[in-house]
Amino acid sequence: MNDVSKLLPLIKFYAVIAFVCALAILLGILNIITGEEITHTEKLLSAYNFVLVVIVIIFCVIVRKEFKLIRKHINRLKSAYNVAGIDPVCNLRNKYKFINDGEIFIERNPEKSFALIHFDISKFTIINNTVGYKVGDKILQQIGKTLQDILADEITGKGEGDNFFAVVEYKDQEEVVDKALEVSDKIEELKIWQKIKIKPVIKIGIFYVNRDDLDLRTAIERAYFAKITLKNNYKSEYVIYNDKIGSELIEAKRMEDEMHKALERKEFKVYFQPKVNLRTGEITGAEALVRWEHPKLGTISPARFIPIFEKNGFIIKLDKYVFEEVCKNIRKWINEGYHVVPVSVNVSRVHFLTRNFVSDYSEIKRKYRIHNRLIEIEITESIAFSNENVDEVFSVMREFREAGFDISIDDFGSGYSSLGLLKAMPVNTLKLDKMFLNDIEDYNAQVIVSNIVNMAKNLNLMVVSEGVETETQVDFLKGIGCDIAQGYVFAKPVPVNIFETFISNGKAKYY
Ligand code: C2E
Ligand code: CA
Ligand code: CA
Repeated sequence: MNDVSKLLPLIKFYAVIAFVCALAILLGILNIITGEEITHTEKLLSAYNFVLVVIVIIFCVIVRKEFKLIRKHINRLKSAYNVAGIDPVCNLRNKYKFINDGEIFIERNPEKSFALIHFDISKFTIINNTVGYKVGDKILQQIGKTLQDILADEITGKGEGDNFFAVVEYKDQEEVVDKALEVSDKIEELKIWQKIKIKPVIKIGIFYVNRDDLDLRTAIERAYFAKITLKNNYKSEYVIYNDKIGSELIEAKRMEDEMHKALERKEFKVYFQPKVNLRTGEITGAEALVRWEHPKLGTISPARFIPIFEKNGFIIKLDKYVFEEVCKNIRKWINEGYHVVPVSVNVSRVHFLTRNFVSDYSEIKRKYRIHNRLIEIEITESIAFSNENVDEVFSVMREFREAGFDISIDDFGSGYSSLGLLKAMPVNTLKLDKMFLNDIEDYNAQVIVSNIVNMAKNLNLMVVSEGVETETQVDFLKGIGCDIAQGYVFAKPVPVNIFETFISNGKAKYY
């Protein structure tokens, strides 16, 4: 990359020339404007300005040509680096060279055992967005160097973004964990984190390579899949690939293979779970929850397929399908004279990266002539309060509100909320995370829940308590003035025909 930096003075030189030209033109124009006979066209066409314009045009042509050459040069250098298999940011092997060199290294040492380690710096996009890509690249360089320094005798490489790999030799399996943790500790100790005031979280997946079935591409995939089973967002951790993770990987692949056909065959079913008004005992709404009724595997819970569909983007199609099914049902209920209640639908974070999110949903809402207030969007707290792009998320929320949708913040209190943001957030309802009810007999938990309910009331927000399972919880929630509750104590999510029986005879009463 040093060659590229040699081009920088040239670029700077042309930038200075361009600046001088611009200044000269400005002076020329000022000369015309401040001249006494402004309207005289001879002045405009005076030789002085004419010459200036010609000079600028010539420079523009030259600079354009040079820039083309420079761009070509940079591209050539980049592809040379790629062909050579070197990641230009970190000076480490890229994934392809890593796989190639790693396999050769293992084959040449038939008496030794090897493991593949996959390192991932959590939420690196947030880091990039917070500190800028230049600093982001610097961090990656330092991580790359740390990896190379500690594992100097092993094969190291870098994948896309913030993924790093290593093939390490071991005598006993513990050694691999020690090496991985040493790298992770040293990365955490880099001074740059203090400077930017971010605590890094490093996730590590380990796969013990099987020599008889040597394929580092698969090894990377397995270590990666092991790594994504790690759930703690705040702590560096490692996990070793095992058979259970293996069967989950196979299951994930199967779901990916079958998802499109399943949608065509209408195997995805929308269930409805009632929300109950705690004062009156009536059904005041419902949440739409999707299930996959698989012809061979039976009913599959969304907890199993949604993370996979979020990763491969299929969730966008599925969520839109669920939304349309809900609108279709509401229209049918209106036409058939049911006691129609508002239904909330879940949307994934992936939608926030797409265009036309609000307009597509509005279009469907219009198609089925669904009144405002009858449809609600549930956005999880982790999306609504993500530091990543608060402004964008807020503007999408505002668009939804303007298009006549109500908005609920789902899983409220599960960890991300910045209460300061709440007062500016265009939402109607907070859905209290079900974890609050786990130990509601505990005094501290009671104080927290009743204060959240109070705060929400002061902000004119509705509160729905989720995951209510017992009469004790119902009594407590009633006592603190919580408006609405949803949970197994009233009803599990049910198929549409059963939900229709709930809303068929006027207002369904639970107590
Ligand atoms: P969620 O949005 O927090 O949905 C509430 C979950 O709590 C549902 O799980 C529901 O069945 C469960 N639940 C309700 N009452 C109780 C209770 O009293 N006790 C307990 N322990 N659980 C209760 P479900 O249906 O398995 O859905 C899991 C998650 O999958 C949902 O969590 C939501 O995040 C996601 N999901 C479901 N349907 C969709 C969808 O159409 N689109 C998207 N993007 N996500 C969906
Ligand atoms: Ca929800
Ligand atoms: Ca929830």
